[in-house]
Amino acid sequence: MRCSACESDAVIDQPYRGAHLCAAHFRESVEERVRREMHRQLPRFGRGTVGVALSGGKDSGVALALAHRYFHRRPTVRVVAISVDEGIDGYRAGTLRAARELTESLGVEHVVVSAREAIGTTIDRTVEELPDTVPCSFCGVWRRQLLNRAARDAGADALVLGFNLDDLAQTVLMNLVRGDLDRLLRMAPHRVRQPGLVPRIAPLAQVPEREVYLYARLKGIPFDHGECPHAGRASRNLFREIVWQLEEDQPGTRQALLHTHERLVTEFLAEGNAIVAPHRCRACGEPAANELCRACEYLEIARAPPSAPEAS
Ligand code: SF4
Ligand SMILES: [Zn+2]
Ligand SMILES: [Zn+2]
Repeated sequence: MRCSACESDAVIDQPYRGAHLCAAHFRESVEERVRREMHRQLPRFGRGTVGVALSGGKDSGVALALAHRYFHRRPTVRVVAISVDEGIDGYRAGTLRAARELTESLGVEHVVVSAREAIGTTIDRTVEELPDTVPCSFCGVWRRQLLNRAARDAGADALVLGFNLDDLAQTVLMNLVRGDLDRLLRMAPHRVRQPGLVPRIAPLAQVPEREVYLYARLKGIPFDHGECPHAGRASRNLFREIVWQLEEDQPGTRQALLHTHERLVTEFLAEGNAIVAPHRCRACGEPAANELCRACEYLEIARAPPSAPEAS
């Protein structure tokens, strides 16, 4: 198959836009989509600090490499990579090694936060003590809070997340199906700054997962291929399958889901509504939707088994 833009052989097809691209045009198309999203989600940003959540996997590796590419000619912008070690044996050490390799090759500052030190427990210990629960619920909530704290401590004005088009489409569908309007509205990318919360942005929002993977391979970005031993228990897997099937059947479904989310948020804000966490957690002082933040709620459950929460 020929590239839609030149005479070279295509390395990837993009059914959602009826195109095939060679390696050079493919790299260019990824970089351009990310550049546009960065500009759209973080407009007129010429001075300050940008945190990048770096797990050591392909998505966050590509997000860091492209954030560095986008900002490195601006000496007034500092980029800081932040990794969280949730305490997952046989998995996290490898991803942290890849994260370190990438930050060293780019010359980017790297902060690693340990869950054991910050909140006094780990995901492995939680799984051991609460074998019937879904570890990703705990992991997601704790990681989100630790990333926010570390980004805030680093003085970050925004936190880049490596969410790709598939991740975001799955999250939109998941929240729609559950009727969870609050979470739908609070999803990244954030348009407004809330006290205590570093706005999260998702510059890979227009890049499908398999294109992120191919880009990382073509550019030689180091990332770890390992899979978390607890991944099989995430309820997200069902939504991954559904979105994949919908996309096969109707190319463009993922972009349509993101567009729906965008319109909901824009119209909600246009009505004069605000998306804010109204409380401060009584245990840790972080922004919270209720009296106790979700990270502390989960800590209470982890310390006093057995009532298990639902998956997120
Ligand atoms: S798969 Fe679940 S437990 Fe494993 S790192 Fe991801 S969120 Fe955490
Ligand atoms: Zn080409
Ligand atoms: Zn709390």
